[in-house]
Amino acid sequence: MRFAKLGPGFQAAFAMAWEAYVDGTVPIGAAILDAEGQVVATGRNRIRSATCPPPQIAGHKIAHAEINAILQVQEDSHPDIRKFTLFTTLEPCPLCFGAIVMDNIRHVAYAARDRIAGATLLADAIRFVRDKRIRFEGPYPVMEGVQIVWHTLFSLQRSGAERLLDAWAVDCPEGVLLGRNPDTAEGLAALMRRGASAEEAFDWTAERLSAQ
Ligand SMILES: [Zn+2]
Repeated sequence: MRFAKLGPGFQAAFAMAWEAYVDGTVPIGAAILDAEGQVVATGRNRIRSATCPPPQIAGHKIAHAEINAILQVQEDSHPDIRKFTLFTTLEPCPLCFGAIVMDNIRHVAYAARDRIAGATLLADAIRFVRDKRIRFEGPYPVMEGVQIVWHTLFSLQRSGAERLLDAWAVDCPEGVLLGRNPDTAEGLAALMRRGASAEEAFDWTAERLSAQ
């Protein structure tokens, strides 16, 4: 699958994830679309970023992609929020899951599973949440692979990566394998150096996943 076929929600989310990757922070992106499919808000991880456009947050452990998208959307200014869909490149963590619940977003699509911090199973655990009947969709094979490749590369630059990679390899071994390949790091670094778009980076990664 190529970037051009992703649809506007995942295109916007992966554009944000690539922007995060280039910025040296966790490569996760999110986008919120209204019932007509128009992008209402985008956000990306900024936990290692110095700046952000208001009202987003940066330089803090809770500066997650979904949080930064959600901060731009609430019922007062968006009365149709229950018809909105939040697209994210990685299954929401407990923090973002809670923000989705409390912001009254009722539909979430995520590209990749996360056995470490993924919190979608909480949807059935608490009555307050269950009654909201939030729909979760995911994962999506090629998108999951691209997310896990980028996330593996980012994680390998930090300590404690092995625990993450072992968990992701259960669901997406091809993504972890390609992310561990030094040629992949080199290839993405070259794309970054010449200011490649998210579309180029996505398609480059997806092509290598399918050739593996
Ligand atoms: Zn999160």
